[in-house]
Amino acid sequence: MTALELHPQTKAFLARTLGHFIAGQVAPSQGDKTSPVHDPGRGIELLRVPLGTQADVDRAVAAARAAFDTGPWRGMKPNMRTRVIWKFADLIEEHTQVLAELESINNGMPIGAAKIGHIGTSVDLLRYAAGWPTKLTGRTIPVSAPGEWHAYTLRDPVGVVAQIVPWNGPLMMAAWKLAPALASGCTIVLKPAEQTPLSAIYLAELAIEAGIPEGVFNVVLGGAEVGAALSAHPDVDKIAFTGSTAVGRAIAGAAAQANFTRVTRELGGKSPVIVFPDADLSAAIPAIAAGIFSGAGQICTAGSRLYVHEKAFDRVLEGVAEAAGKLSVGYGLDPATQMGPLISAAHLQRVAGMTENAVREGASVVTGAEAIEGGGYFYKPTILASLTPDSTIVREEVFGPVLSALRFNDDDLDAIAAEANGSAYGLAASIFTRDFSLAHRMAARVRAGTIGINRHFVGDSALPFGGFRQSGWGREKGEDMFNAYLETKAIAAPL
Ligand code: NAD
Repeated sequence: MTALELHPQTKAFLARTLGHFIAGQVAPSQGDKTSPVHDPGRGIELLRVPLGTQADVDRAVAAARAAFDTGPWRGMKPNMRTRVIWKFADLIEEHTQVLAELESINNGMPIGAAKIGHIGTSVDLLRYAAGWPTKLTGRTIPVSAPGEWHAYTLRDPVGVVAQIVPWNGPLMMAAWKLAPALASGCTIVLKPAEQTPLSAIYLAELAIEAGIPEGVFNVVLGGAEVGAALSAHPDVDKIAFTGSTAVGRAIAGAAAQANFTRVTRELGGKSPVIVFPDADLSAAIPAIAAGIFSGAGQICTAGSRLYVHEKAFDRVLEGVAEAAGKLSVGYGLDPATQMGPLISAAHLQRVAGMTENAVREGASVVTGAEAIEGGGYFYKPTILASLTPDSTIVREEVFGPVLSALRFNDDDLDAIAAEANGSAYGLAASIFTRDFSLAHRMAARVRAGTIGINRHFVGDSALPFGGFRQSGWGREKGEDMFNAYLETKAIAAPL
C-alpha cells in the first residue's frame, strides 16, 4: 500500500450505500434528498449521503427514547458499562488507520494529526470515561429537621441526548460528547456536520460491535434543518452542541421553546497568545506557529491573537513567519503534509475575504494572505500586523490560518489582561514567559476556559474544556463533563 492509497476497508466503506444509523442498523432516509460529501484536498465530490428529514429525526429520537426507558444500558451494572465502553475504545484504536483516512479525506486534516491528535485522544477520553460508571455516586446528607433522618442523593442520567457537532474534528467532537453520555447511562442521537458524516457512521457500527445496545447510539445525517429539528424536539432531554456562536444562540432559543431542554455549548473563540520579553523564544515560536496553523486554523482554540511585548515583537514575528514558510501545506493523506486545506470553497472565500478586508482596513501582510492554486481549498499560513485592538480581524473569528499580531509595551498585568480579555469570546489563551510567578498571576487575570503556560494547546482527557462568555456554557472532558449528563435526586426519610 503506498502512502496515498486507501486501506481496503476504507475503500469498501466508501463504496457502500451510507445512511442514518437508527436502532442498531443503517437506516434509509424517509426523504429522497441527498447531500454531497467532498474531499477538500482535491476539491471533488466523493459520494452523496441522505439528507435527513423530520421523520428521520423522529425515528432516531424514538429509538433513543425506547433504549433509555426500557433498554438495558442505564440498567447495566456500572462495571459492565465500563467494560463495554473500554471495548468501544479498543475497537476505535484497532480501526485507527481506516478512521484516520476517513477523517483525512473528508476534512482534509493531515493523516498523522488524525491518528494521534484526533483518534488517539478520543480513544484516551473514552477510556477515561470508562472508569467513571462505578464512581458516579450520590452523597449522604445530614438533615437539620427534628428527629432522625436518612437522606441521600442519587445521580440519574438525564435521558435522551442530542449531540450536534461541527466538521473541524468530526470524530473527536463526537467522542467528547459520546464519552460522558455513555458513561452516565444516557442514550444518544448524534448529528455530524453535513460536510463530514463518514466517521460518525463508522463509529456507530463499532459501538454495536463493542456491545452497546441497539438504540443507545443513533446517527441522523443532515445539516441545519436536521439540527434545528433535534433542537426543537420535545422528547430530547439535553442538547450538546459544538459549533458557531450564532448557531449556539439559535439552538438555545429553540431548546427553550421545546421543553426548556438543557443545552451545553462549545462555541467560537479568538484566543490570545501573550508573549513576555523573557520568554524562551526557541520554544515559544514553534508553539505559537502550531497554535494557529494546526488544523489550518480551523480549531476553536486557535491562538489567533498574538500579543508580544515590544522588546520581543520583531524576533517573534520573524520566527513565526519563518516557521509558516517552512510548513508543508498539502494533501492530508501525504505523510509529509503538516497543514491541509480549508473545509470548502465557500470557507476559503470567507477566509480570503476577511484577510482582504483587514488589508483594506490598514493591516500589513507579514506573510501569506493568498490562496494556493490547485485542486483543493488551500490557503497560505498568514500573519498580519499593523493592527489595533479594534481591527475587525482582531475581533472576529476567522477559523483559518490567519494570525493577527499586536504589540504591547505595558508592564501592568491588568492592562495586558484587559487587552487579552477584550473579546466577546473566552475559550483559550496562552502565556509565554520564564517567570512562573508572572505566568500564574497573568493566568488568574485572563478570562478563558483553558490557559496554557509556555504551550498553546493543553488538552488532556482529565482537564475540563469549555468557554467563558460567547465561547459557550458547560464543560466537556474531565470530571466536570458529567455535570450536564446527570440529574441529582434528593431522597429523605424520617427514621
Ligand atoms: P456551525 O455552527 O455552522 O455548525 C455546527 C453544527 O450545527 C453542524 O452540525 C450544523 O449542521 C449544525 N447546525 C447548523 N445550523 C443549525 C441550526 N439552526 N440548528 C441546529 N443545528 C444547526 O459551525 P461550523 O461552521 O460547522 O463550525 C465552525 C464553528 O464551530 C466555529 O465557530 C468554531 O469555533 C466552532 N467550534 C467550537 C469548538 C469548541 O469546542 N468550542 C470546537 C470546534 C468548533
